[in-house]
Parts: sequence; structure tokens; C-alpha cells
Amino acid sequence: MNLHSDYPFWMVKEGMKNAYPTLEEDLKTDVLIVGGGISGALIGTKLVKAGIDVTIVDKRHIGFGSTSASTAMLQYEIDTPLYELIEMVGEAAAVRSYELCAEAIDTLGKISAKVPGGAGFEPHPSLFYASTKKDAEQLIAPEFEARKAAGFKVKLLDEAAVQKQFGFNAPAGILSEQGAHLNPYQLAQHLFSKMVKNGARIFDLTEVQAWEPGQKRVELTTKNGHKIRAKYLVVACGYESQNYLPKNVTQLNSTYALVSKPVESKKKFWHRNALIWETKTPYLYIRTTADNRIIVGGRDERFYNPEKRDELLPKKRKQLEDDFAKLFPHIDFITDFAWAGTFGETKDGLPYIGSYNHPRTLFAMGYGGNGITFSVAAADILHDAIMGKKNKDAEIFRFER
Ligand SMILES: Cc1cc2nc3c(=O)[nH]c(=O)nc-3n(C[C@H](O)[C@H](O)[C@H](O)COP(=O)(O)OP(=O)(O)OC[C@H]3O[C@@H](n4cnc5c(N)ncnc54)[C@H](O)[C@@H]3O)c2cc1C
Repeated sequence: MNLHSDYPFWMVKEGMKNAYPTLEEDLKTDVLIVGGGISGALIGTKLVKAGIDVTIVDKRHIGFGSTSASTAMLQYEIDTPLYELIEMVGEAAAVRSYELCAEAIDTLGKISAKVPGGAGFEPHPSLFYASTKKDAEQLIAPEFEARKAAGFKVKLLDEAAVQKQFGFNAPAGILSEQGAHLNPYQLAQHLFSKMVKNGARIFDLTEVQAWEPGQKRVELTTKNGHKIRAKYLVVACGYESQNYLPKNVTQLNSTYALVSKPVESKKKFWHRNALIWETKTPYLYIRTTADNRIIVGGRDERFYNPEKRDELLPKKRKQLEDDFAKLFPHIDFITDFAWAGTFGETKDGLPYIGSYNHPRTLFAMGYGGNGITFSVAAADILHDAIMGKKNKDAEIFRFER
């Protein structure tokens, strides 16, 4: 699968941090994680800390999957509004999913604080604005009530308040206190290098082609014909995880992102440099970076076709630049990098985490726009599954839901 166009920003900015060998012999391990992205990094870190023998393999260079293309807004609010999610999965599961994402933001803040330079982690509030009057009444109003009832720190902004704090016109908005952004590639690279120091083995350019789960272990075969025997297999292959399931649980879409040159004239662009997104679909979203750039993304297309996706990039770049200029005509946004990516979504907006068909084969997949916070939840749930501990949240994300 082709996950993104050339030159996603983080990859260019950070470069190849570490060199890892390619697997050239058979090996045995307690846990084999297939996938060296942010999910593999978070899950592996948790397992290594628990004293487990972990091996990670990736068919690309480490971190070169979706993690390098991500715009990495960290929001507890997922693409399915809370009031709709309650109708789909029930109040307890919906509210808990939102809470888990909120907790994940704090966890990512703590982990990033240990990375030299902080992995670009910065807390910012998040503005969800109504694109139309109708959305203000039919979406923002019930969503505000649902989030307030669930105990989230939110403020309802009317048209005048959006104008005063953000400087553009929108009939209403929800300002959420909790949100953040980071540099996901830098964080993943840091976690992997730390994991190696703590005894994990990492191999890049090592593709798993098949596996056979047994009673005591899973036996895997790589493209080069080497065998890996693991007590547990964790499939953390991002959007490619779908390739390993007989049933289809994700719809693949194309998405677009731009990052500006650092804007020298300003440090504060709008109210607390909040993350911004809107009710219209496909939506527009905006965040800043630790080095004073602005990232604008979205305007997704509902297809998976890498050639068509990348052909659309110049048109989407213009559309996103125009969208930004309409909101913030006074900010000098000069595009430095533009890229396209593939991402998946599930029918309820929640990921799939846990075993499928076999207790030793565990998946962390099905992330939509909020993959990174759900990767934190996946690390906890899969850690507990492997340690034989009950996890009260595991039910929410099971395949059989
Ligand atoms: C443009 C864009 C914007 C996004 N914005 C946000 C956002 O604002 N906030 C947010 O939270 N999330 C966002 N996401 C989603 C987020 O980036 C993903 O959820 C996250 O990066 C997934 O990480 P991962 O480790 O699961 O997958 P990946 O980073 O893709 O890692 C999986 C790895 O598995 C490897 N692999 C696959 N198959 C095999 C195999 N057979 N053998 C060996 N290795 C294999 C791949 O090579 C890959 O490196 C965005 C995604 C995109 C594309």
C-alpha cells in the first residue's frame, strides 16, 4: 500500500535518526510487533518497561509509514461527535472513549517531556466551529451539551466570541480546554532508540509475509524466508493492518496537508494558538508548530488510489491555501511543504484493538483522524492482554462489537 506522497514534513525536518539492521536470520522473541510507527513505539515501550523481550520489524525504514505524514493534532474529540457516538455505542462506551483520548494527551505530554527538545509537544485548547448556522443549531448545540454532561471543560462561543478570539466569522463554536500537538516522527524515533538501549531488537526493511498461530506461539515468515517465533504477535501496521483481516473494517480515504514557512512576524496567531477544525465535511483543520509554522490540512476525498490522490495535490494545496486565507487574510501563509496521505476510518470512528481469531494475534488498528491518542489506549490494552491482566476498556474496541 502507498501511505503518502513524497516529502512529508517531519521526515524531511528530522531526517533518518537511526540506522537499524535488516533481519538476516531466524529468531525467537516473546512479543513480535509488526510495524515501526507511533503505535509500535508506544506499545513496545510499555512492554519493554514491563520486562518483556520485544522485537519490532518494519518493511519500510522505521517511522516512514503514516507516522511521518501525520499532522498530529492531539484531541480527545474524535471524528464522530460525542452525541452521535452515544447513539451508536451507548453512553458509557462513548464517554469512556473520549476520556481515554483525553488521558492519552496527558500521557503523551509526560512521555514527550523526556525527549530532548520535547518532541514538539505543546498543549493548546481546541476550537470546533460551526461552518453554517444550521450546524450551529444541529451539531454544535447538542455536542456542547453532551460534552458538558460528560464533564469535559468546554465553553460555548457565540458569533461575537469567535470573532473576538479568533478574528473570523462563524455562527458558533466549542472551545475545549484540553488539546495539544506534537512531532510524531520525532517522538517515535526517540522511543525506538530508547527501546534498543533497554534490550529490544529492531529490524527495518523486514517484511512479514505470513503467519501461523499455534497453541503456544505464532510462527511468522519474512519476505526473505526467515522464521520468527513469538509468544505473541502484535499487528501495528497502521492502515495496512486491514490487509491481514478477512473482514473489512476500515474505509480508506485520501487526505492533504500543508505546512507554512515559519511566520516571523507573529508568535500568537489567534486565541492561545488553539487547534482549529470545523463541522463541514470534509473538514479543514489548522494547528501551529513549535517553530512557529502553521499546518493546514483536510479536505479529504473518499477513495484509495495513490496516483489519483497525488495528482490532486496541486489542486488541494490551492484549496487549503484559499481556505486559510479566507479565515486569516492578515497572516502571511507561504507554503513550505505540501503532501498527501492515506488514512482510514471505521463506521463508528473507534479503532479496533485486541485479538482477532486467535488469542496470540493482537491488533492495534482502525485509527481515523485521532490515531495517535488511540495508539496510547492500544498500548495499555495490549500490554494488559499480554500480561494476562483484565483491562476494563478492552471491550469498547473489540472486533466483535
Ligand atoms: C495526513 C495525515 C494527517 C493525520 N493527522 C492526524 C492528527 O492530526 N492526529 C492524529 O492523532 N492522527 C492523525 N493521523 C493519523 C495518524 O498519523 C495515524 O493514526 C498513525 O500515524 C498510525 O500510526 P501506526 O504506527 O499505527 O501506523 P504507521 O505509522 O503507518 O506504521 C505502521 C508500519 O507498519 C509497517 N508495515 C505494514 N505492513 C507490514 C508488514 N507486512 N511487515 C512489516 N512491516 C509492515 C509499515 O511499513 C509502517 O511503517 C493523520 C494521518 C495522516 C496520513
